[in-house]
Amino acid sequence: MSSHQKWNWMQEELKQLEQKSQLRSLHETTILENGWILRDGKKMLNLASNDYLGLSERLNRSNLTALIEEEERISSSLRFGSTASRLIVGNDPIYRELETEFASFKGTEDSLVFSSGYMANIGVMSTVVGRKDVVFSDRLNHASIVDGIILSRAEHKRFRHRDVEHLEHLLKKADPNRKKLIVTDSIFSMDGSVAPLKQLVELKNKYGAMLMVDEAHSGGIYGEKGQGLVHALGLTDEVDILMGTFSKAYGCYGAYIAGDSVLIQYLMNKARSFIFTTALPPVNIAAIQRNWSRIQAEGWRQKSLLEKSDWFKQQLQSRGFNTGESESQIIPLIVGDNKKTMEFSALLQEKGVAAVAVRPPTVPEGTARIRFTIMSLHQDYDLERALVLIDEIGECLKVKK
Ligand code: PMP
Repeated sequence: MSSHQKWNWMQEELKQLEQKSQLRSLHETTILENGWILRDGKKMLNLASNDYLGLSERLNRSNLTALIEEEERISSSLRFGSTASRLIVGNDPIYRELETEFASFKGTEDSLVFSSGYMANIGVMSTVVGRKDVVFSDRLNHASIVDGIILSRAEHKRFRHRDVEHLEHLLKKADPNRKKLIVTDSIFSMDGSVAPLKQLVELKNKYGAMLMVDEAHSGGIYGEKGQGLVHALGLTDEVDILMGTFSKAYGCYGAYIAGDSVLIQYLMNKARSFIFTTALPPVNIAAIQRNWSRIQAEGWRQKSLLEKSDWFKQQLQSRGFNTGESESQIIPLIVGDNKKTMEFSALLQEKGVAAVAVRPPTVPEGTARIRFTIMSLHQDYDLERALVLIDEIGECLKVKK
């Protein structure tokens, strides 16, 4: 068999994906100033970034100097590389410093850094629940939560998106003696909708379940100093496991779990995605610390992001587009059909707007969409120009309600 023939079955599956307009590919992207990018050599307004506050800066003399100052402050050497896992010899002092300070910022006893949000979610889910337990998970939770549940081998009960009545129905039916975990995104990554956190707390108390909240898209943005939505709602003490990332509003990379000391100690001992992986490079941790202090000091970033997001969403709605249940900086324009969504996104890109088409299986069948995300750095006139283009394309493709 030639090496080519060997992969016939893969080629067949890829062809099928292409026929369903579900084939993915990589595009070379360079980040420019003020929310612009170069994508495959073409300049576009970036309406597809998770760097909501514009903190993922280009390396320059000033931020390098800030990192070197950080090194002097912490009096340890800021290394670009890692040497081992945290539990072997990779536990640079900068880790515990961040974890302790970050826990007091979040209002929890302790916190633990993971290499990414994906690793944090699969690590926690597969550790705190097991074969005999049951997880109640919002149907639109992030893929990393779903993968974590699969790894845990716990029973997976999916409740309809933000539907607390459906959740209660499932909780009522569950064996009261089984360990139960309710898990939800705080802001849903493909919908921009907000979880009914207060009601979830009531239900977790009523049915003796644990509650885990993924603050990937609300950390750094909501709350007085960016502590997140759970903190802003005064629910920190009610949420058993708080997860968030440093890869979105924080403009860096990495993630954290915040909670009681015993939970953190347990994860350190049991979470395989913490134990069996190399520690993030210390310089990455210093960059998180720097951006985190800017989040606290430069409140105009959050304010501007939320104002621009509200305005952009209202403008789309007033033009007759369906923005679903978005209440945040993530704004979907729901098209429905996969092919039409691809066409929409291709036309937008042709005209200089990068907004990614999101199709099943990332979102439920029949709800393919363009996912817009706003950045605090976007200029009003750039957003206005983008709206005119979106309007023209929507009219042409008959996407409006
Ligand atoms: N949770 C949610 C809700 C997310 O949107 C994401 C990233 N898209 C993750 C977890 C994973 O985080 P990371 O990108 O840091 O792995």
